[in-house]
Amino acid sequence: MRTKTLHLSSANPVLAIVLFISIFMFSCKKEEASTQPQADGSIASLTDYLTGKGFKAEDIVFKDGKFTIEKDIVITSEEVAARMKNESNSGTPQTEQRRNTYIISNTYNTNVKLYIEPDVPAAWKTAVQGAVANWNAVNGTRLGMSIVTTLSASNTRIFMGFESANWIARAYLPTSNGRPGVSVEINSNFNSLAASQKLFAITHELGHTIGFHHTNQTSGTLIPGTPSVDANSVMNSFVLNWNGFTAGDVLATQILYPQ
Ligand SMILES: [Zn+2]
Repeated sequence: MRTKTLHLSSANPVLAIVLFISIFMFSCKKEEASTQPQADGSIASLTDYLTGKGFKAEDIVFKDGKFTIEKDIVITSEEVAARMKNESNSGTPQTEQRRNTYIISNTYNTNVKLYIEPDVPAAWKTAVQGAVANWNAVNGTRLGMSIVTTLSASNTRIFMGFESANWIARAYLPTSNGRPGVSVEINSNFNSLAASQKLFAITHELGHTIGFHHTNQTSGTLIPGTPSVDANSVMNSFVLNWNGFTAGDVLATQILYPQ
């Protein structure tokens, strides 16, 4: 099992193998025949695409077929490739707090279904329940969430991971087909975090799964009409004690998911 974080800039043979497998997998999905891409060049082009979206290169880590950005946003290389393809087909992405290119379609956004793995400690489970209640309490939006009891019935899986690193939890963004981010991983390294900070952290991660980027960083697209500086926003990339959504958080949710 690999536990080392592999950075894009490293010339590591293990990384080269991971990249090759990943490239091979999505070159199979291409409809047109193409020459075998250079592994390094292709990952570099995906990375260029991400930096073009405003992510800083030093905040992008590629490992096990997926990019982790700003420590807690996870995107598979297949998804990055799909986004690049969609945008080259449809021209410039639409301009629209900060949002992801893709948000959850109306098929899913009134009831995003979360599944909590049984080994998630009770204190984190309480935080997930509280975070769902937080998002459901935002007025003037069609957004809704619930916790379901089987993985097969869910859209988003909440599970425990461990890394001796300074991320508390991390989540996937919505996909190009309008589905919620597929998972939230909680780092058991932070099991002793205060309940109020756990609640903030999970509310924040669910924010990623519904399409929000970080309010205090430059990736993603600024949502017009929301403040560009919002120190207490739940989507800031550092954890505070939970003290409710800011007006900017509420407005951003209403704009992305109007009633
Ligand atoms: Zn985050």
